[in-house]
Amino acid sequence: MRRTIVAGNWKMNASKESVNKLILGILSGMSEVRSEVVVCAPFPYLSQVEALITHSQVKLGAQNLNTNSSGAFTGEVSANMIKDFGARHVIVGHSERRSLYGETSPLVAEKVKAALDSDLTPILCVGESLEQRESGETEIVVAEQINTVIESVGIDAFRNIIIAYEPVWAIGTGKTASPEQAQAAHLFIRDLLRKSNESIAQSTHILYGGSMNAGNAKELISCADIDGGLIGGAALKAEDFLQICRVG
Ligand code: PEP
Repeated sequence: MRRTIVAGNWKMNASKESVNKLILGILSGMSEVRSEVVVCAPFPYLSQVEALITHSQVKLGAQNLNTNSSGAFTGEVSANMIKDFGARHVIVGHSERRSLYGETSPLVAEKVKAALDSDLTPILCVGESLEQRESGETEIVVAEQINTVIESVGIDAFRNIIIAYEPVWAIGTGKTASPEQAQAAHLFIRDLLRKSNESIAQSTHILYGGSMNAGNAKELISCADIDGGLIGGAALKAEDFLQICRVG
């Protein structure tokens, strides 16, 4: 049985004041939450969140990392630096990184490897654009994104990888994939893993992301192959986020 995981992706939205309010709000409602809860904060706030969540069930994550462990990479942040602030997760290959910063599947695979090498759990994002869905390429796109990682780190590494299926057309648009569309994509991903290893296919968490909110989370997370959510907009308000966390 896979425990539900709900991860918040704050993107580039935070201030010291808002982080305080958001985390204290989440902590005040955690007693009714059975899901595993992760908050992925922007780098400057990792330390603040680390201090606020001490002794709580909430886990900390980052939103990106560099593939190198240290050195002359101005403006970049390594896996070890993220670990240093108590983070256990890192989002890798978010569609905004792929589309706005030119991250290719081979680079995403290198980032997954760098995260794993530092004992961070990558939340590997995959998903198709609207154009790709409309031209029937969803499975080709998602298979390429996942197979590139399998070829790079091996299927066994997926014991420590979380996958997030995030159709690009649903991210931040208010257009959620229907439970049927999402379940079909999740089953496709699980079947893809099954081709390499049945037990890993069964144990891998596959989260849905794309305008998940308090109103639609239950229907989505009830689908057989949807193991939780990666939440953007609705992760910025404690009560909305908690309502999703309570579904699991
Ligand atoms: C995301 O950024 O990963 C995401 C799913 O955003 P939203 O929930 O706002 O669509």
